Amino acid sequence: MVHWEEVAAGVFRRRYEPHDVSVCVVRSADGLLVVDTRSSHREADEVRADLRRLGDLPVRWVVNTHAHFDHTFGNARFGPASDLGAPIYAHERVPAHLDAYERPMLAGWVASGREPKDEWREIVITAPTVLVGNTTTLDLGGRAVQLLHLGRGHTDNDLVVHVPDAGAWLVGDLLEESGPPMYGSGSFPLDWPATIDRLRVALTTGPHADAPVLVPGHGAVIDERFAAVQQGHLQVVADIVRDLYAAGIPVEAAVREGGDRWPFPAAGMAGAARDGYRQLRDTHPDT
Ligand SMILES: [Zn+2]
Repeated sequence: MVHWEEVAAGVFRRRYEPHDVSVCVVRSADGLLVVDTRSSHREADEVRADLRRLGDLPVRWVVNTHAHFDHTFGNARFGPASDLGAPIYAHERVPAHLDAYERPMLAGWVASGREPKDEWREIVITAPTVLVGNTTTLDLGGRAVQLLHLGRGHTDNDLVVHVPDAGAWLVGDLLEESGPPMYGSGSFPLDWPATIDRLRVALTTGPHADAPVLVPGHGAVIDERFAAVQQGHLQVVADIVRDLYAAGIPVEAAVREGGDRWPFPAAGMAGAARDGYRQLRDTHPDT
């Protein structure tokens, strides 16, 4: 069994299956801040039980790094309708994303009888209770945590949780380690590289700028070098999508036409092409 790993001073992380999703905890004298709530009420309850290993401190704050189901569908078990009654912080575009993508997806899973049926059926998709813009500082009681929206990328509602006193950056799915970055479901492939650029600039600030600790939403702890390499790959994807669109290649043929230029497995590139083409069409609606 994998236990909580203290990735930086007073910052803990546990990796959960399915999806190898990270749940992180920032501990202060006043309580625990929990980052992301997994895919269902049952999975969230497993997190709650595991939190007892970190002591008796109450969960006082919850943050969603973005709206995707594997980071938010456990919200109900932490939020105001639960016995914990914690506020849930997220970017201001999360509610709209939940309505546009996650609610219809869950309804489809329930209607189709997807397993585990009972687990999907009992989910009450719970929107965040405190919506934030580009920069917010939370005071955990002697410990500051910054919530940063650095631009569009994996979604239009990604938040990075920065713990300055520990040099920790919980980056959600803006960077991924155990699999390729995930496109589709509301991604912005053309903006993504510039967002990572802003992250890399931010990493150079603060007392731990010499060795920042980055925790991705999926996978092992990474460093600035990893971020730079993945940013390069994200840029290649953006460039290919622009080229194919400019050449008039239909979106259905984009994955094949990109051929071995894609830096990530072809299976994930249909989403990149679809969302990139959508961005380009929205910019130039007449073409
Ligand atoms: Zn995601």
